[in-house]
Amino acid sequence: MPIAAAKKVAGAKKGEKQHPHQNSNLCTHPKSGQVSNTKIEDLLHQRKLFLVLDLDHTLLHAAELKTLSPKEKYLTRKVQDPEFKDMLFEWGSLLIKLRPFVHAFLKEANNLFQMCIYTMSDGVYAKAMAKLLDPRGVYFGSRVFSRENCIRDDEKNFDVVGAKENCVLILDDTQTVWRKQKENLMVIEKYMFFAPNCPKMRNNYKSLSETKSDEGEADGALAVALQDLKQIHSLFFDPEHEDNFAERDVRKFKEMVS
Ligand SMILES: [Mg+2]
Repeated sequence: MPIAAAKKVAGAKKGEKQHPHQNSNLCTHPKSGQVSNTKIEDLLHQRKLFLVLDLDHTLLHAAELKTLSPKEKYLTRKVQDPEFKDMLFEWGSLLIKLRPFVHAFLKEANNLFQMCIYTMSDGVYAKAMAKLLDPRGVYFGSRVFSRENCIRDDEKNFDVVGAKENCVLILDDTQTVWRKQKENLMVIEKYMFFAPNCPKMRNNYKSLSETKSDEGEADGALAVALQDLKQIHSLFFDPEHEDNFAERDVRKFKEMVS
């Protein structure tokens, strides 16, 4: 995970996390950070659920340029290469590789979900990565949350999503940051494109980049996750249900699919 320095929050005491709702420019609602009940109902009537997406190792992998292994150095010359078009970027001291299938994933998932990004990295990095993934701002809008929106250093805050747990799915490679929402969480295999930083691990492991390979487009982890998401969405909005949307629970349908 790239470790850009955490921005100091003005006025916050050392060690104290700013309440997510104080950072109003990132919230859907200027005061509460919550999507109003009316808006949730509107979205459900549009046949849309909520989807929280992690960044690092879920949608992309980032590495410090200075830590690239000798066999990865060729990548710095590939940023402008058509082979890596819209998939490989330099951002400051980092090299960013988007996960295969990510563009198709976002395009299709956007028809079924209102999506947001939620990363434990800092807000500057989060917004920059959102821009790489969504240059026109059609998928995430201002719904980009980061470590500044966490109450604790090791736990993501479900409140920022602004919806009830019965209509939210989460796609994240790290289970431990969602202690209270395990039933909403779909754990995705970590995307590790670059070689690990640890020299000992490098001896026993050849990264995708070193072997000039990658996850498959059609059968990679994001393609598999999209199929599961489509199935859960379809079960949730099954017209055979006689109850109304508010009484349905996505967690029950996720259990049936996973
Ligand atoms: Mg992650």
